[in-house]
Amino acid sequence: MPKRNDLEQKALQFVIAKGREGVLQSELWRKLDASSREGSRIAIKLEEKGLVHRTKELRDGRWTYRLFPNRLPASIESIADCPCLMCPDNQRCDPTTPISPKTCGRLTAWLLSSKLDDPDAIGEDNLAQSMDPR
Ligand code: SF4
Repeated sequence: MPKRNDLEQKALQFVIAKGREGVLQSELWRKLDASSREGSRIAIKLEEKGLVHRTKELRDGRWTYRLFPNRLPASIESIADCPCLMCPDNQRCDPTTPISPKTCGRLTAWLLSSKLDDPDAIGEDNLAQSMDPR
């Protein structure tokens, strides 16, 4: 029998793989080959750790939960056209110097571009962090 931490890790990976679609708790139990009781414990544990959130859902006349990841990994495509990658000032760019990401118009324009309108292009938390002026 796998350890609970292993199951938690597998569960989290599965929930992340499902992305914004989320996964029904019952589907997760089946995937993990766990009992409903153990599946519930794992889901609650992941929620307590802030790794997932659950929403109540009526399914086939019964209430259950759908789990969603709180963080999604950013895809490589989301930064493929970042101006910093080809910037001639890249080596001199530093937040403590006049050439800085804090004041860079190209970076700001890129961050505000439509690419970031796609919530799947970058994780919400990553987006929030990228927009944080600190
Ligand atoms: S923040 Fe601006 S200046 Fe700095 S590397 Fe990126 S594009 Fe170049």
